[in-house]
Amino acid sequence: MFNSTDECFKALSKSKFRSSFHLDTKDIIHAKNYGIVLLRKQAYDIINTRLNYNENFIDGKQTPFKGHPIFISQHATATCCRSCIKKWHGI
Ligand SMILES: [Zn+2]
Repeated sequence: MFNSTDECFKALSKSKFRSSFHLDTKDIIHAKNYGIVLLRKQAYDIINTRLNYNENFIDGKQTPFKGHPIFISQHATATCCRSCIKKWHGI
């Protein structure tokens, strides 16, 4: 486990898989059009709904690999599923 967020993000940047995720031009335009306030709300809503347990919950399959800049960010920061959050962030 990591002693700090900086340590965790440094390790994430060294992960071949995690560091392979980048926002494409469409995602960047999308993010700029949304703005930081709306993106934060969308990130909250996405994480709150997709990572929350429900009767159809299957951990590891809830975050698409494209379609929203938050999805890409989740894979890059290992917040894509409960297993990754536990492994990388200890939560
Ligand atoms: Zn995951």
